[in-house]
Amino acid sequence: MAELEKNSIEFTDKVKDDVHALAADTTEVELEGYAARRHAEQSLAHKWLSFESEELKEAARKMLHCRSSSTICMTEAGEVRYIWDEVCGLGKICPDEGRKETQRVVKKYVPELRKFAQRRPTHRLFYAVFTQPNFSLGSLKVGMDKIMLDLNERVLKAVEVIPEEERTSRKATRIRFPQIKGALTTLEAPLSEGLKWNVHVNAILMVDGRFDYKEICEAWGHNVEIRELKETDEQSLGQTIQEVLKYSVQLVTTKSASKRERHATNAPAFSEWTEQQTLEWWKAMKGFRRTRSYGEIYALEKVKWNNATQFQREKWLKTAGMPQEWATMEWLDIPKDNRKALKEIVLGADKGDPVTLIAIGRAILNDALTYSVDLIKGNNFFSSTSRKQTTYQPGYGHERFDTGPPGYH
Ligand SMILES: [Zn+2]
Repeated sequence: MAELEKNSIEFTDKVKDDVHALAADTTEVELEGYAARRHAEQSLAHKWLSFESEELKEAARKMLHCRSSSTICMTEAGEVRYIWDEVCGLGKICPDEGRKETQRVVKKYVPELRKFAQRRPTHRLFYAVFTQPNFSLGSLKVGMDKIMLDLNERVLKAVEVIPEEERTSRKATRIRFPQIKGALTTLEAPLSEGLKWNVHVNAILMVDGRFDYKEICEAWGHNVEIRELKETDEQSLGQTIQEVLKYSVQLVTTKSASKRERHATNAPAFSEWTEQQTLEWWKAMKGFRRTRSYGEIYALEKVKWNNATQFQREKWLKTAGMPQEWATMEWLDIPKDNRKALKEIVLGADKGDPVTLIAIGRAILNDALTYSVDLIKGNNFFSSTSRKQTTYQPGYGHERFDTGPPGYH
């Protein structure tokens, strides 16, 4: 009990600091702190509530309550964490969901990209932006599908006819860019100054050997910006991925507004789009896999499966509710539909050590401008359920779990 009392006092002090930090955030002009993120999300929500569309209204209601009240906990290490009552889950809009998605992609792909870059001296990484002429209003979905298809057919999976004199077998075609070993791509579709959809794809290309920009541009048929990523340490690659993902996952309002201040573009901010424009974007993005991986980078789960012990495989299969006999199978021999479900489990298997949380309080963050924190001092939040402590596995079914003070990441 003395221990609990001590924790509780520490926690009270820590939370006070945290909440003061939150309050201080409201004066920041940059849309970085917690308060600013909530403000941006909530102003968009208010705008959407004025629309006719029930779909957009529904999303707006989720955005309004996103991360506004939380159970606050302390880990044994003294770190304050938040278990939010409600989160919007709108990864393509919410600044917090966007950050979560970026962190996920960084954690998943940076180690693989690094390994690739360091494996051989001929291995290099390139950052590329593939653009096409803008698409007019009403054809966003068509444009999105087209650019992804073109990228496959013209570059990533392009096939060419082998000239007669070079044929060594009966094979008449070959991969056009065999030096591209893998890629991580993400699509963006902001509204341009001329009120057209500026659909483009950011990509990190994994290349082995000779790489001719001109050939790629020629094959693509439009503009491609390419630069080599010379720094392949963890931090630089993490930053590049953030760059690749940033515009599409950050609140569009933030980006467009700050860009406009720099007079870089007069494109309307997300919050200035009409209902029709918003709805078209919303419908096109719904269910669309914005971030995709190809080639060598694609098979992370395969690598992990192949390196796993029989015991580990059986555990995964059990979790997925699949037959234990499959533990002896090669990854690609598992039926495709099952592979998809199993992939999540295999990749999510090492999401960090369980953390013991001591939950002691509640935080209500009203419009991010005022706040109240209700600490249950000397008491344990979970004692009412006759449990003194609880163990959370980050990323496992606790979607509303956030680490650290929400204003400072
Ligand atoms: Zn949200």
